[in-house]
Amino acid sequence: MTFRDDVTRSGGNARKSGGGGRGMAVGGGIGGLLLVGLFLLLGGNPAEIDQVLGGDQTQIESGESTGAGDFDHCQTGADANASDDCRLYYTSFSVNEMWQTLLPAQAGIEYTEPTLTLFKNSTQTGCGFASASTGPFYCPSDQDAYFDLTFFDQMRQFGAENAPLAQMYIVAHEYGHHVQNLEGTLGLSNYNDPGADSNAVKIELQADCYAGIWANHSSEGPDPLLQPITESELDSALLAASAVGDDNIQQRSGGDVNPESWTHGSSQQRKDAFLAGYNTGQMSACDFLGRGVYNDA
Ligand SMILES: [Zn+2]
Repeated sequence: MTFRDDVTRSGGNARKSGGGGRGMAVGGGIGGLLLVGLFLLLGGNPAEIDQVLGGDQTQIESGESTGAGDFDHCQTGADANASDDCRLYYTSFSVNEMWQTLLPAQAGIEYTEPTLTLFKNSTQTGCGFASASTGPFYCPSDQDAYFDLTFFDQMRQFGAENAPLAQMYIVAHEYGHHVQNLEGTLGLSNYNDPGADSNAVKIELQADCYAGIWANHSSEGPDPLLQPITESELDSALLAASAVGDDNIQQRSGGDVNPESWTHGSSQQRKDAFLAGYNTGQMSACDFLGRGVYNDA
């Protein structure tokens, strides 16, 4: 998906954060295994997974940031097309602008923006210490979506051609968890109670579906950030969604496929969930929890 070169945004609820020392990874969000899935999708060698996920977590890049000036170099959509941090930053505007309209219309809930935090190697969060091995995740207690830029550096080093699209899909997925937090349903997810039909999987599939809703609406409105999605971009998004399926990750990591241990859903489930949102643009199509509370609008 491509930003219109001349669009411009500034401000917003975003910051950069880095460093802070060593610590334990926290769980949650899109799941650390996502990184494995994306890495494999992008052509990585499974033998190098440890290298990708392990990283050097002792490196301290910088102190906490207030956010002022962190994105001054992200002036236009062309900048967003050219660099990871600007792409993540501009994607957050695109996703926020869609939910500002859509969430009140379809769910009767006011949308408030989460914080977008980009970090390198490690950072302190409201959900504990996050490191490179944590992967992108959403922390409900501080309503903050965290993305590790070093992971995207690594993806590129390994020749990741689909990295930009995967990044945007991940942002839309994590912001989907924020929407679930506003809906009061995110807490239903429990990774300690996994399985193909578990609430954990339903919540993850719904976040994929919400990412599909964003892809559906991303080129709409008076000043859209994105050009209309092309057929090949849609295929890439579906490939990204299916690559991070639990069955695919289990298989490609050399293990058995065990649906009882799934927390995010199979490749087919994730692809179908993204498409359900993309084809309709409606939250009602993502009602995997069977709540029946959405209006089509
Ligand atoms: Zn998730």
